[in-house]
Amino acid sequence: MEVRRQIEVSGIVQGVGFRPYVYRLATGRHLRGTIRNTSAGVTIEIQGPAETVQDFVEHLPAEAPPLARITSLAVHEVPCVVVQIGGDQDFRIVHSAEGEEVRTLISPDVAICPDCLREMFDANDRRYRYPFINCTNCGPRFTIIRDIPYDRPSTSMAVFPMCPACQAEYEAPLNRRFHAQPNACWECGPRVELWDKAGKRTECRDPIVEAVSALHAGLVVAVKGLGGFHLAVDATNSAAVARLRQRKRRVEKPFAVMVPDLRAAEEICELDDAASAALQSIQRPIVLLPKKLRPGGDARLSIIPDEVAPFNRYLGIFLPYTPLHYLLLSEGGFKALVMTSGNQSEEPIAIDNREAVDRLNGLADYFLVHNRDILLRCDDSVVRVAGGVTRQLRRSRGFVPVPVFLKDDQPSVLAVGGELKNTICLIKGKNAFLSQHVGDLENAESYSFFHEAIEHLERILEIRPEIIAYDLHPDYFSTRWALQQSEVQLVGVQHHHAHIASCMAENHLEGRVIGFALDGTGYGTDGKIWGGEVLIAGYEDFERAAHFEYVPLPGGAAAIREPWRMAVSYLAHHFGREFLRLDIPFVRQLNRPKAELLLRMMEQGVNSPLTSSCGRLFDAVAALVGIRQQVNYEAQAAIELEMAMGSSKIVSSKTASPEKDTAYPMKLLPELVPEDDHWIISTRPLFEALLEDLGRNLSVGTISRRFHNGLVEGFVQLATVLQQKTALNRVCLSGGTFHNIYLSERLEARLSEAGFEVFTQKEVPSGDGGLSLGQALVAAAKLHA
Ligand SMILES: [Zn+2]
Ligand SMILES: [Zn+2]
Repeated sequence: MEVRRQIEVSGIVQGVGFRPYVYRLATGRHLRGTIRNTSAGVTIEIQGPAETVQDFVEHLPAEAPPLARITSLAVHEVPCVVVQIGGDQDFRIVHSAEGEEVRTLISPDVAICPDCLREMFDANDRRYRYPFINCTNCGPRFTIIRDIPYDRPSTSMAVFPMCPACQAEYEAPLNRRFHAQPNACWECGPRVELWDKAGKRTECRDPIVEAVSALHAGLVVAVKGLGGFHLAVDATNSAAVARLRQRKRRVEKPFAVMVPDLRAAEEICELDDAASAALQSIQRPIVLLPKKLRPGGDARLSIIPDEVAPFNRYLGIFLPYTPLHYLLLSEGGFKALVMTSGNQSEEPIAIDNREAVDRLNGLADYFLVHNRDILLRCDDSVVRVAGGVTRQLRRSRGFVPVPVFLKDDQPSVLAVGGELKNTICLIKGKNAFLSQHVGDLENAESYSFFHEAIEHLERILEIRPEIIAYDLHPDYFSTRWALQQSEVQLVGVQHHHAHIASCMAENHLEGRVIGFALDGTGYGTDGKIWGGEVLIAGYEDFERAAHFEYVPLPGGAAAIREPWRMAVSYLAHHFGREFLRLDIPFVRQLNRPKAELLLRMMEQGVNSPLTSSCGRLFDAVAALVGIRQQVNYEAQAAIELEMAMGSSKIVSSKTASPEKDTAYPMKLLPELVPEDDHWIISTRPLFEALLEDLGRNLSVGTISRRFHNGLVEGFVQLATVLQQKTALNRVCLSGGTFHNIYLSERLEARLSEAGFEVFTQKEVPSGDGGLSLGQALVAAAKLHA
C-alpha cells in the first residue's frame, strides 16, 4: 500500500548538503516526492510503499551529513498524489520561490573532510595541493559571513568569481559542492603568500615550502588559519619554543601543540576512546590530555620539551583542521608544531594580514598569509576529556554559532557575560547562541572585539534584544556597557546565580536546585567578593544557603597574583599572629618584613576586601604546602595543586571510598557553622589538619589529596543538610573550580552515592565562559515570571 508523508525538519539543514543527501536517500529507495528549503529548515514530501517510507524516515536523521544538526523532525500523514504522466514520478529538489525569505541557522567552521583531504593529496585531482579546498561538508562558514542570507555575495568569497568548473559543481544538485559558498580552486580562488617580518611579499616558487624551511630553522611563522593567526614553531625544538615564549612574554602558561595525526598524538599523550573521538571530531578542538610518561615516569624523555607546558602534567593537543595545516605538516614532516594564538599576551587574536604584521611585530619572523578575509575572529576551542566525558573549557571555533538548545521558548535577551573569558549570549525562541571566546576585557582591543561580537551576532541571527542582562560588578567593562544602553530592559544578575542557571539551562532543568557555585571571583549582593557559594536557586531568584567564611584578600588583585598572601591571610585569620611561630617551611621561608606589612594592612582593613572565594582557598593551600608563591597565569596555583596528586591515570578520583581510604582523616573537613538562616563553611579544622600534616612531613601529593577529599566530604555533608531542610534532591555543579577534574569527578561520584541527582556542564564551560547563558535565562525569568 502506498503512503505519503510530509516531513518538516528544523535545525542546521541548509548549506550543509542536506538536500542532495535526502535526494540520494529517496532515489536509492525508489521513492517519489520533493524537498524544499523553508524558513524553518526543509520540508520533504515522500511517497511510496508504507514500509519503504518508514525505512526512509528512520534513516533520515541517522545518516545526515556531518554539518547538519537536526533539532526537530515532524512527520505528518498527507494524501497520496496520483502519478500522472509528467507529474510527480520521481524525487525532485524544488527551488525556493523567488523572494521567499530563507533564513536558518548558520553552521560553524569545521575541519576539512576526508573526501577533500583525499582530493588534495591526489596528484591527478584539479585541486591537488590547493590550500582552500572545501565542500558542503567542510570548510569555513561563520568566520567568512558578512551578512545573511548565507550566500557567496554576503561572504568574504564575494571577490572570487567562480570559474566554469567550480560554477558547474556549485549548480549540480548531486555534487558534493552543490551550493558550497566557499567553493574555489587554483583557477579562481584565494592564494597563499609568504611575507617577511616587515610585511613584504617574498618571491618564491612555493610559499608553503619556504615557510616549512623557516620552521625547520627554528624561526617563528605566523600562519593565517580559520578564525585568526597562529604563531607556529617546531614543538620539538626547545630553543625555538623558548624564543617564542620570550618574545610573547608568556611565562609558563602552556602552549597548544598541533600534531599530524592520531598516531602522533598517541606518542605524546594518554588517549582513550573519548579523547580520540574529540581530537578527530569535525570541530577539532584543542584537547587537554595527560602527557605520556616514559619508562621510569620521566616526562622529560618526551619529544615535546618542557618549555611547551612547564610544571604541567597535561598538554593541549589538536589535529590539523585547514588544508593549509595539512600541507604544512606533511610538507615539513613535523611531529608537532606549537600553534598558539597570534596575539600579544592577552589581546584578541589577529585576523587581518596587515593587522597581523602590525600587531605581531617582533613576534613572527615570517607571515604565511592568504587573501580570503577572516571577517570575524574566532579562537580555537579547548575541551578536556575525563571519565569518557568531553567538557568545554573554551567553546569557540567549530562550535559557534551552533545554539544551545533550550527547553522552552524565551524572550529575546542579550547577556553580556563577565570580565574574564568573556562570551556574550543571544537568546531567541528555544535557541541560546553563545558567542565565540571574546577573552579578558582588559584592553582596548578586547573592548572592540566585544562590540564586534555583539553587532555581528545580532546581525546574522537577526535578534533585536528586548532585555540586556549583565553582571552586578559595577567595574566590569561589560556591565558599564550594558548600563549605557537605552530602550531595553536592563537586568543585573549575580555572578554565581548565573553559573547555576547556566548549568540548569544546559540540563533543561526547571524549578529549584541545590547549586554549588565554586570559583575565584564574583561580585556578591553584599558587595563582597564571593566564590565559594552554595545556593538554593531557580532561574528567577536564589537564596545563599551557605558560603565559605570570609577572609581578607590582602592587596586585592595582588593577592590573586601572589598566593602566599592568601596563605598568610588564612593563617592569621584562624590562628592570629601565633602562626608566625610555627615550625613549617612556609613560615620559615616567609619574607618577614613583607609579611609584617601584609598583617598590618589586614589588621587596619586597608585594601583588604573580604572574600569567600574557593579559588583563593586553593591558592592559600598551594602556597602553604610550597607549590607556588606567585602565579604567572590565572588559576596556576590551583592547577598545580591538583597535579601534585599525580596524573589522572595514577589517581582515579572515583575509586577508594573514604571509609576504605585509611589515610583519610575525618577531621580534615570544613565545619558547618549556623548563622542566621544560612551556614558558614568554616575552614579552620581544615587548616589545623593541614598544619599537622605539614609538621609530620607528609608528601605534598598526599596533603593535596587529603585537602581535595576533605572538601568533597564537607560538600556532601552540606548537601545532605540542605536536602533535609528543602527536600531538594538535584544538585548543580558550576564555576571555574570545576575545571579541576579530580574535584568534580569525585564530588559528582560521592553525591550520586549519597542519592543525589547531580548535574554538571559539558556543552558550555562551567567557568566564566558559560556565564552569559545563565545571565540570559535569569533575566528572562525575572521579567516574565
Ligand atoms: Zn570537504
Ligand atoms: Zn574554480
